[in-house]
Amino acid sequence: MIEGNFKDLGINDELAEILKKKGFEHPTPIQKQTIPLILDGKDLIGQAETGSGKTAACAIPLVQQVDKSVNDIQTLILTPTRELALQYLDEVSSFGTPYGVTPFVIYGGFNKDIHLAKLKSGVQILVATPGRLIDIIYNHYLALENLKTMVIDEADEMLKMGFIEDVDFIKSCIVQKHQTLLFSATMPPPIKRLAGKYMKDAVHIKLNADQSGPSSLIHYVIHAESRSKDRQLSMLLAQKDITQAIVFCNTRTRVKTLYKSLQDKFRDVDYLHGGMEQNLRTRIMDKFRAKKIKVVITTDVMARGIDVRGVSHIINYDFPKTSESYVHRTGRTARLGGEGTAISIVTRSDADIYKEVSEKYGINPVAFPGSAAEDDSSASRPHRGRSRKK
Ligand code: AMP
Repeated sequence: MIEGNFKDLGINDELAEILKKKGFEHPTPIQKQTIPLILDGKDLIGQAETGSGKTAACAIPLVQQVDKSVNDIQTLILTPTRELALQYLDEVSSFGTPYGVTPFVIYGGFNKDIHLAKLKSGVQILVATPGRLIDIIYNHYLALENLKTMVIDEADEMLKMGFIEDVDFIKSCIVQKHQTLLFSATMPPPIKRLAGKYMKDAVHIKLNADQSGPSSLIHYVIHAESRSKDRQLSMLLAQKDITQAIVFCNTRTRVKTLYKSLQDKFRDVDYLHGGMEQNLRTRIMDKFRAKKIKVVITTDVMARGIDVRGVSHIINYDFPKTSESYVHRTGRTARLGGEGTAISIVTRSDADIYKEVSEKYGINPVAFPGSAAEDDSSASRPHRGRSRKK
């Protein structure tokens, strides 16, 4: 059970009251650990479970640390994708704006003049993707002299997307002493090197050791031939208990083809992938959050960090190419202790990664009721996230 309150962690009355009105009455475990350390000015490396409230764990103390009388960037938050940047901004704004601080977000694909004008008018917490930020640092002027804290979110994803040198460059532009907070699901050597280069005596917080996802998440599998995947998916989408679903494919082309084949059969279906114009991506995310879209077909662009309340089902139309991706995709449901269902369609060519999910994370999905493999002897009870394989 979640207990305690934000004031005990050093959050002032005004901000604690705003958080309460927003529905944040008690801090989550990661918030209990990180908030006092961040307020104390410590450098931090956080490895936290997805859906644990890690965005607010960072954003709440950072909002409180802003000196409202200084109209310059005091906090910089770097995220790998635009969707995550927008989501971060939403979280910060939800309590930062009523508290009287000015957050803003910049990312590629959006009108740069608007970004520049807003930056000139005074932004105190800036959320950014690396590309647009570097463009502005190179070609325009960005006041970073009053920056006190830099956050690097989803650092391992930055690495995968080839952004780690950009992050290194941005970091090197901040010459004054400042606090660094680095969040990463895993700590591969290049991230360790980056942390070693810039962070002194960082406190390491690890809440997701050997993580297999929330225990309220049930994992199912449908073993199928490639050619019957569409039929299996249609059967799944026709189920009544789906409130909202994310259907994952491995390529953008597949996303589009699948959308075309489903759009006539199912209403409230849409798709989203990284090759689409940013405005359209944002519109689709907004509609999905507002529950105007029931099913979104997508790629791994939506696998990391994206938080949409009410997603009841994750469907792997294509089984992911890595076991980490399986954990991230399925972590889009059962957030903050809620219930969720993950269903994967697995073909023969997925056998190696499917096995790795079991070996590495102890997740052993059971046959989906009614699917061909249901009678498989291993399929007695649905697997719930954290219970380990014997
Ligand atoms: P995250 O792990 O940052 O993606 O957060 C997951 C969800 O939990 C988000 O919708 C947050 O707004 C929500 N959340 C974060 N902290 C709290 C809290 N202390 N109480 C209630 N909800 C929270």
